[in-house]
Amino acid sequence: MRNVTILGATGSIGQSTLDVIRRHPDRFAVHALTASTRVDEMVSLCRDFRPRFAVMADVTAAARLAEQLPRDLGTEVLAGETGLCEVASAGEVDTVMAAIVGAAGLAPTLAAAKAGKRVLLANKEALVMSGQMFMDAVAESGAELLPIDSEHNAIFQCLPSDQMRNLGGAGVRRILLTASGGPFRTFSREALRDVTPAQACAHPNWSMGRKISVDSASLMNKGLELIEACWLFDTRPEMVEVHIHPESIIHSMVDYVDGSVLAQLGSPDMRTPIANGLAWPERIDAGVKPLDLFALGQFNFERPDLERFPCLRLAAEAFESGGTAPAVLNAANEVAVSAFLNGNLRFIDIPVMIERTLSCMTMEVAEDFDALFAKDREARARAQEQLPLIAV
Ligand code: NDP
Repeated sequence: MRNVTILGATGSIGQSTLDVIRRHPDRFAVHALTASTRVDEMVSLCRDFRPRFAVMADVTAAARLAEQLPRDLGTEVLAGETGLCEVASAGEVDTVMAAIVGAAGLAPTLAAAKAGKRVLLANKEALVMSGQMFMDAVAESGAELLPIDSEHNAIFQCLPSDQMRNLGGAGVRRILLTASGGPFRTFSREALRDVTPAQACAHPNWSMGRKISVDSASLMNKGLELIEACWLFDTRPEMVEVHIHPESIIHSMVDYVDGSVLAQLGSPDMRTPIANGLAWPERIDAGVKPLDLFALGQFNFERPDLERFPCLRLAAEAFESGGTAPAVLNAANEVAVSAFLNGNLRFIDIPVMIERTLSCMTMEVAEDFDALFAKDREARARAQEQLPLIAV
């Protein structure tokens, strides 16, 4: 029986994880569920799964949850980052789903990694921000880091399991990282000026949280994934080639030196990579409908257009610059996406805000996590300063 903590249980990935867990009560038990502010959703999840702990990152929300939870559930309520880190590293827990959105997920995900857990990594921002420091923490503790992002999980499935960080030894020539292209794939630069948050969040193939939906539309998601792939598979951006594949059926591919290209295919449903990570190396039913290739008929591929979607270029450049540049890129993107979702920034100005923030900050190698968090805070402040200068 695996004892699981789900960080970000009320979100899209959290819900999909709980759906897989619900199908296998003989294999998985829920130790803790966490959320930020959504108390009603948490009450309902606690009734369903009866976790030992429920954590709200927001202290006021935690107090409300404690009031509303029936006592006979036996669920203890914790609050804040300390509570998140506690349930991510608890001795009884062996698996942690890291599905908090954004930089807020770094501290608890790191706590899980330092405690040597099986870490199911959906929260790519945590790895993008901290890169080498995070991978060092994994190596030191012997944690098992398994990718949940569908692309990285696909690559993981196409690699020999003992050579995930030895691509040269495994005979890998390239990684082919696929991307749907998002809802604006065919939009002209002119048309991109007027797109709304509702349009950006209406992804053609995937149902996801709002932040990753906007990232998907701007191709920043692919930029973050490029960086994520470099850390997870110990490789360089020039070894990773982004292929726009609008059908989102091939989730990524590995090109080997003998000419073989291995691909992982499946319906666009996150329960597949989640089930893969939860049960690895076994396979379990994820509730995902079988692929009907006859109905699909054909697959298409395009090169990404970096003129219309400069975020992918900015991410690759930030990784090349190294040091704290990816953390600054991530922080500026979080501020820009939030401003766009609140109607205070145009979609086409997301990369403008990020580029200006990157260019007004000095990058260095962060000595430790405190220095990294300080850089993250500084980048958010610099990005906020850009807002009145860019906003229409
Ligand atoms: P959602 O927005 O749907 O859910 C986010 C979760 O994080 C919620 O439980 C939310 O709680 C919680 N949360 C938000 N802010 C904080 C905070 N400051 N402190 C603690 N918890 C917080 O996001 P997704 O599920 O879509 O994405 C989660 C992560 O997984 C992201 O990093 C994303 O990039 C990655 N991912 C997602 C995919 C998808 O298909 N959705 C695919 C691949 C990767 P509350 O509900 O209370 O606000």
